[in-house]
Amino acid sequence: MTEILDNEVPPPPPATTDPSGKAADGTGRTYNGWTQNSTLEDYSLRYAPKSFRRWTPYVVATTALGGIAYLADFAIGGSIAISYGFGSAMVAIAAAAVVIFLTGIPISYYSAKYSIDMDLLTRGAGFGYLGSTLTSVIYASFTFIFFALEGSIMAQALELGLNIPLPVSYLIASLIILPLVIYGMTALSKMQVWTQPIWLVLMVAPFISIAIQEPEKFSKFTHFAGNSPTGSSVSLISVGAGAGVALSLIAQIGEQVDYLRFMPDKTPENSRSWWASVLSAGPGWVVLGGAKQIGGAFLAFYIAGSVGLSKANEPIQQYVSGFKTFAAPVALGLATFFVILSQIKINSTNAYSGSLSWSNFFSRLTHRHPGRVVYIFLNVGIALALMEGGVFGFLNTVLGFYSNVAIAWIGAVVADLVINKPLGLSPSYIEFKRAHLYNFNPVGFGSMLIASAVSIVAYFNAFGDYGKAFSPFIALFLAMVLSPLFAKLTKGKYYIARTEDLDEPLFTEDGLLSAAVLTCTVCTDEFERPDVALCPFHSGPICSLCCSLESACHDSCKTGGGASGPVDLDSPKVRTAG
Ligand SMILES: [Zn+2]
Ligand SMILES: [Zn+2]
Repeated sequence: MTEILDNEVPPPPPATTDPSGKAADGTGRTYNGWTQNSTLEDYSLRYAPKSFRRWTPYVVATTALGGIAYLADFAIGGSIAISYGFGSAMVAIAAAAVVIFLTGIPISYYSAKYSIDMDLLTRGAGFGYLGSTLTSVIYASFTFIFFALEGSIMAQALELGLNIPLPVSYLIASLIILPLVIYGMTALSKMQVWTQPIWLVLMVAPFISIAIQEPEKFSKFTHFAGNSPTGSSVSLISVGAGAGVALSLIAQIGEQVDYLRFMPDKTPENSRSWWASVLSAGPGWVVLGGAKQIGGAFLAFYIAGSVGLSKANEPIQQYVSGFKTFAAPVALGLATFFVILSQIKINSTNAYSGSLSWSNFFSRLTHRHPGRVVYIFLNVGIALALMEGGVFGFLNTVLGFYSNVAIAWIGAVVADLVINKPLGLSPSYIEFKRAHLYNFNPVGFGSMLIASAVSIVAYFNAFGDYGKAFSPFIALFLAMVLSPLFAKLTKGKYYIARTEDLDEPLFTEDGLLSAAVLTCTVCTDEFERPDVALCPFHSGPICSLCCSLESACHDSCKTGGGASGPVDLDSPKVRTAG
């Protein structure tokens, strides 16, 4: 998100740190170019400091919502309608949207309040420092699965509009993203700002045109049966299966909070706009997403007679026919341009987010940062393999399966935030630093493993047709029940491995995170208090990333003589000033 944020929002305040990132005495840790950028400019693996969060809630929200202009929703909505018919598809899309909206509220709130991304939030919400490496992979999978779907949509446009064979189009759709993500998305972001209004007009134009010229299509849509054996009426099994496909998008909240972590502190003065922005740009994404899915379902019905059911879920086909209703001579060219434009934008984001997730995963396991370029190739490479393997044709199956793991993760995080914390079974704040976390906390990590295992077994038909259709809901239910149960059984002992012991308090008198600046003993840069821990190994304050990359200490601060051992939740953990 570095480049997007740099260009779509007012320029950040001048860095207060030495931009060289080098230690003054030449003995400390130095970061290579990429790491330096990511740690000092967009804080991608860290807490986003108050000095950097200078934008208004409104600016953060509009930037976050600008990122969701992608077309997979049209393909997903079309696929669900074709497979399950109008009635079941509408209920399924609505049910999934409600679940995604409700789970998105606490995640967005805590991310905006503590200025951390989804990975750091997961660590503190019951998973532990290494427990969330698994969820980094789940999130990386989200980015490469959707890169593959969005890339396939772009390849279909290249094939139809420019007569390029599909296997070659897949390659082009992947390669075109690489320079944009590797060399920065500056030009792309500028293009994104001025193309956004055009994009919106093009997106809704077919619906307005059809409403004027063929209004009867909308009532005929309600009788669309697709391939459904139960016709256009509502069937419970079809609703479950359809919702399972749409629920795969639950991990999109991770991309939304990548922006929301830059929200300013919530104060009595900005409280209303703060909440409005967090809700609209966080869970609110699914209102637009659900509307696009219903739009895709309608267009699939609209073109099914002319292109056949097997191609009716392809956005390029939907928009060629849609544009033909008012601009027939240029419809093919316009639709090709429209699809390529949206897909380049979304897949740059997918490749970027995926590379950060892989960095996050490998930096914790190997204590190394080879640079994000390596992970961009990894992520795009996996996605290309999926595309060439024809993933678009198995869209319902792939997304339906993915939902099981994604929902188990999100469910366990949400349970910690909305059940364990209010009950005092979990610390009242979010701890994300290695220096204070256990590697694994059974509360969230264990709940997620069990919930996803049971729901995957259900997905493969172990508990009959209803169990298969509703497997993501089984995962959600289990994760949300097991998390508080495990928190109760473990007495919350595995959330915090070591108490805060810096002289500088973590919170100010008004309950906000302290903006006091401390110097990291290792890299000698300055960081705000929430990003710093006291390190006995280096005998001084250490920033969270230096702490993560330290391979020689063997966690001695938590296991050696200086460790305070498991912390009971009823003992005071955080001192506040005053
Ligand atoms: Zn440091
Ligand atoms: Zn340590």
